Amino acid sequence: MLIDTHCHLTDERFDEDREEIISSLFQNGIERAIVVGYDRQSSSESFKLAKKHENLYCAVGTHPHDSNKYGVSDAEYYKELSNDEKVVAIGEIGLDYFYDLSEREIQRKVFVEQLELADSLKLPVIIHLRDAYEDMFDLLSRNVHYLNHGLLFHCYSGSAEMAKRYFKFDPYFAFGGSITFKNAKFCYEVLPIIDKDRILFETDSPYLTPVPFRGKRNEPKFTRLAVEKASEILNVEVDELIKSSIINARRLFTKLK
Ligand SMILES: [Zn+2]
Repeated sequence: MLIDTHCHLTDERFDEDREEIISSLFQNGIERAIVVGYDRQSSSESFKLAKKHENLYCAVGTHPHDSNKYGVSDAEYYKELSNDEKVVAIGEIGLDYFYDLSEREIQRKVFVEQLELADSLKLPVIIHLRDAYEDMFDLLSRNVHYLNHGLLFHCYSGSAEMAKRYFKFDPYFAFGGSITFKNAKFCYEVLPIIDKDRILFETDSPYLTPVPFRGKRNEPKFTRLAVEKASEILNVEVDELIKSSIINARRLFTKLK
């Protein structure tokens, strides 16, 4: 059984068959799934889903794309939700200089504010990071006092060299469908240098559908395809990776039952 540590089951692409997908998670080998918010609305919806289904948990937070909408009331709202046993992390938060949908300065400010929030709630953070590797390193270095409860780079696609520099923050790395893509050469360099105790798996569904289902909607059940690819890259048995990734997920997300 696997844990999909990052999915967006609140996405409208699941409107037709959401309940069906959730009720068939177990028979598809998914023991738990973490539904991740990216703004106030999606965090609220993720929370509601997690409250409704035993096998779902959630993360609440504001994505870098939506940083310009983030305010004090959102922080208060996330704080209130986080008292619940189903909220396992603050996320996804981070920096995205590829799309630049919010001003970079605002992205940085909102990211640090949410690091502080997570620390005050004793929760780990789920980090989205794209094309902002130096700034991320700089912000984490300057705010290392907020990193007492763990951090996860979700769908990490940076270089091995950068990953090594991040090691000083003792992060976890989650890999999903993108490691199965033909152009994903980076993972042959990145995966082998990461400690097995720090590797997790995810889908980011409905996005990043793995090979051979590209073009279709991604679903939590495809988590296994990322594990199979990692097993091939690392030359480690699939079952061994599944086992360690579940232990790792529970070590990082301490509220996950
Ligand atoms: Zn996501």
